[in-house]
Amino acid sequence: MDYQGRQQRLIEDLRASHLDALLVTHLPNIRYLCGFTGSSGALLVAEGGINLFTDGRYTEQAKTEVQSARAVISKKGPLSAAARSMGRKRFGNRASKSQTLGIEGQYLTVAARRSLSDELPRHIRVREAPPLVERARMVKDADEIRAIRTAVERGAELFKHALQTIRPGVKEIEVAAEMEYAARKDGAEGMAFETIIASGARSALPHGRASSTAIVSGAFVVCDFGVILHGYCSDRTRTVYVGAATVEARRVYDAVLASQLAAIDTVGPGVKIARIDQAARKTLQQNGLAQYFTHSTGHGVGLEIHEAPRVARGQQEVLRPGMVITIEPGVYLPGKWGVRIEDMVVVTEQGCEVLTPTQKEFIVI
Ligand code: ZN
Ligand code: ZN
Repeated sequence: MDYQGRQQRLIEDLRASHLDALLVTHLPNIRYLCGFTGSSGALLVAEGGINLFTDGRYTEQAKTEVQSARAVISKKGPLSAAARSMGRKRFGNRASKSQTLGIEGQYLTVAARRSLSDELPRHIRVREAPPLVERARMVKDADEIRAIRTAVERGAELFKHALQTIRPGVKEIEVAAEMEYAARKDGAEGMAFETIIASGARSALPHGRASSTAIVSGAFVVCDFGVILHGYCSDRTRTVYVGAATVEARRVYDAVLASQLAAIDTVGPGVKIARIDQAARKTLQQNGLAQYFTHSTGHGVGLEIHEAPRVARGQQEVLRPGMVITIEPGVYLPGKWGVRIEDMVVVTEQGCEVLTPTQKEFIVI
């Protein structure tokens, strides 16, 4: 991964945001910037030096993983260690009297921010930084797309285990267990999120995690699942019908599929994200189902399962080649059942590529 390029671009962004340094504490951002995968760390990014502060548990790991930053092993917590180092050495614009340190306000607790301010020398002001790293992470480079592609392919494989297990009477968690066991055996570092197997009336819950409910006949089962491979997540949803399908079930399924395809059709460079959401909703509206689509159309995926950009109503962000997003409209009929179909797509120079080009026809079990 091109850590040095990422760091260089971030330093330019810091300058433009009038920050002398940025204290990165969100672990996926740290990983993105220097490759460190430990669970405790703070990365201080400033012109003239990138320092990773971590503790003794990660001495060896930091040595192996981090070549593009200086690793500082400290007995104190990473924040304290970073604050103390700033007291010893000036960074950024050395000519000015005071210096401004950007923090990631979204991820720092109130208590951590207070103790950071207490430990910093007086000439350093703390300011909440804009989401600079998150913005950089929106556009994936070739190495990242390769990693995502592998995660998506491995993740997609799990659906066949779901198909083999889903039967009336089988518990949702048993289906999830078979999929997760297969994922780990196949080398996944973990699941990208808690596997969603939502059957019967529970399929009308957009985030129905697998429960001990037994699958019943005469309703859909929503399967939403993904794996982590080389740090990158995959995310995919398929919905199947158990029992003899009704005309209504087919009609709703076809409408969701048409909505998903219409949204995918609009994805391309230069397109305002709101338009994708609009395309998905419009198709459902034509089928009289728009009011049952209760969440946004999708989200960015990468080192985190949900990351920028949000694919939602009114989003002014414009798509650029290299962005990886999900397209996942759904229809949820309360107390009855629900349908969702989700794929990951990568924005290309010409349009987009669906990363999970597998079948989406109506499946009956
Ligand atoms: Zn999903
Ligand atoms: Zn998703």
